Amino acid sequence: MILLLFVPLTFFAQLEEARRITQRLCSPEFHGRGYVNQGDSIAAEFIAAEFQNLGLDPIKGNYFQSFTHNVNTFPGKMEVKTGDRLLQPGIDFLIDPSSPGGNKILNPILVNYELIKNEPQFIWTIKHVLKDKTHDAFVFDFSSAPKDSVKDFIKFSRDFITVSKMPVFLVTEDKFTWSVSDEVLLAPYILLKPGTWNEGESITLDINQQFKVNYTSRNVISMIKGKGCSKKTIVFTAHYDHLGRMGSDTYFPGGNDNASGTAMLLVMAKYFKEHPPKFNVLFIAFAGEEAGLLGSKYFTENPQYNLKKIDFLINLDIMGSGEEGITIVNATLFEKEFALLQEINKEKDYLTQIKSRGPAANSDHYWFTQMGVPAFFIYTMGPNKNYHDVFDTYVNLSFAEVMDITDLLVHFAEKLTSK
Ligand SMILES: [Zn+2]
Repeated sequence: MILLLFVPLTFFAQLEEARRITQRLCSPEFHGRGYVNQGDSIAAEFIAAEFQNLGLDPIKGNYFQSFTHNVNTFPGKMEVKTGDRLLQPGIDFLIDPSSPGGNKILNPILVNYELIKNEPQFIWTIKHVLKDKTHDAFVFDFSSAPKDSVKDFIKFSRDFITVSKMPVFLVTEDKFTWSVSDEVLLAPYILLKPGTWNEGESITLDINQQFKVNYTSRNVISMIKGKGCSKKTIVFTAHYDHLGRMGSDTYFPGGNDNASGTAMLLVMAKYFKEHPPKFNVLFIAFAGEEAGLLGSKYFTENPQYNLKKIDFLINLDIMGSGEEGITIVNATLFEKEFALLQEINKEKDYLTQIKSRGPAANSDHYWFTQMGVPAFFIYTMGPNKNYHDVFDTYVNLSFAEVMDITDLLVHFAEKLTSK
């Protein structure tokens, strides 16, 4: 108990702050921060209001940087019935992000490994179905196929839509991992969990899909000018968008990915506002990351801040755990900076490990690296493996290392800019 007295109050305040922001961003009113009900835009407004409450200035006239892109969405009905059983979206089935919708009762034919193995029989069956219209959909099931060929079969099943122009269902035990698409397939493509469909049963679809052209997304940007005449600049980035809604009743909260990183970004902003740094600090909450790193791409092509003046960029994506430490993407590109991070961590005994990883195009730091801006992408590691699924919720986050990571990054930014 006595030890607790020596712990600074900000210590707990940071954790509370990270929790508050993440919980808000994950709530249903933000619709999974995607493109249904303008969820991403609601999140953008929320972040801008947080910047304003903290007293942070925009770089330009306001906090926003707009850009447009196409996106496929599922705003309404999302019903799949096998026989007379109504399946649960995100649990029993997952619609491909590029899928069109539709409203029809289908009479599918089963295509399994046994059939595909017997090539003449397979070709005959397919021809027969396509020509005589004996069936109007396909259910692919490769559960008995050799493990090393399953991937190819899955790819084949999706490509098959181009040929058949008929709905395709894929029975798969793989974890459901959703994403965002800017294109539309010729017919619905839907993943089913094993046991949700029996051969001979009909499949009823009632799915509302809408392709949005030139949808407007917004990066949210603010900065704190350094004390004195420091020319150094550190940038913190995190994408706030996620996958949105898969139908009106199901949404992907994106707790770890990346409400947690957005929260960390705002925690860092609060820290530096309360402890004015000698260097300039920029905070960028990116939109459109899940749609293909679109917000960061747009920013690097239309920078609101001279990219050459950025000394280092730290991208925070998936910050909700940390029991097993963190990983640094680009560690092998910036060995000196990585060594500094290791040194601080060892000295202060913050995290169990800081793992090194090479460059990867897996988050918003990517375009900055391409433009020659020194950058790290930091993600936490821990037992929480929920990713791009309906289980990536606020309650499933441990926030094990929020305070240690904040301290680590503050020391890192200070040391980097003090040379
Ligand atoms: Zn993601």
